[in-house]
Amino acid sequence: MSRKEANKDISRGASAGVAEGTARGRAVAAALEELYPGSVCTLDWHEPWQLLVMARLSAQCTDARVNEVCRDLFVRYPTARSVAEADIAELEEAVRPCGLFRMKAASIKAACGMLIRDYGGKLPDSMEELLRLPGVGRKIANLILGDVYGIPGIVADTHCIRICGRLGFYPETLKDPEKVERILSDEIPAGYQTDTCHRLVDFGRDVCSAKNPGCDRCPAALREICEHLKAGNAGEKQKSRKETAE
Ligand code: SF4
Repeated sequence: MSRKEANKDISRGASAGVAEGTARGRAVAAALEELYPGSVCTLDWHEPWQLLVMARLSAQCTDARVNEVCRDLFVRYPTARSVAEADIAELEEAVRPCGLFRMKAASIKAACGMLIRDYGGKLPDSMEELLRLPGVGRKIANLILGDVYGIPGIVADTHCIRICGRLGFYPETLKDPEKVERILSDEIPAGYQTDTCHRLVDFGRDVCSAKNPGCDRCPAALREICEHLKAGNAGEKQKSRKETAE
């Protein structure tokens, strides 16, 4: 299944609306949809096995760098089998710009090997099987389930964890991805979970950044429910920035 076909399936899943979520979850999903109607995964994959490789390479690396590295990588290694059979030293060199290159090269080679050996080259469509693949944790598995198969899931990355804590889904001090995933799975309507996570990445980069959230540019629907803003955190920071500038 190509990325285009997968996106069509996701739209069908969204309209089916498996679970309704909570009022807060629906409000956040709707506000983000209005702000970023066309958000998609920022990793530029074309075949599902490529998403697996790119997601693994993106640990502690920007998606932009991964996209750049993978443009050449997928010319040199055009199939999962070619990654599985790659010379490890050459593969390490090819992914070096993504950092942690020895570990990443070893795990993408091993994961592609298992994909060929155990799954006939096709990415499995269950959490249990995806977690068997070397280097795949729940975050990558949920990304694959959502983007490739249209199966709802929360991708608890750094933007998602930070912003949803600020929005009051759980205390801001909670940073455990699995707990965040469990909470948000009940809060965000199922048909919106995948897209909402992509939108949180865009929103985290554009507006609700880690150090200086741009609350003055935040949609009213989110400002109304934002616990971080209510607690005066963002206001205090903005005030102190203004005072410093004066
Ligand atoms: S009001 Fe500020 S802290 Fe709250 S979600 Fe918006 S940008 Fe983030």
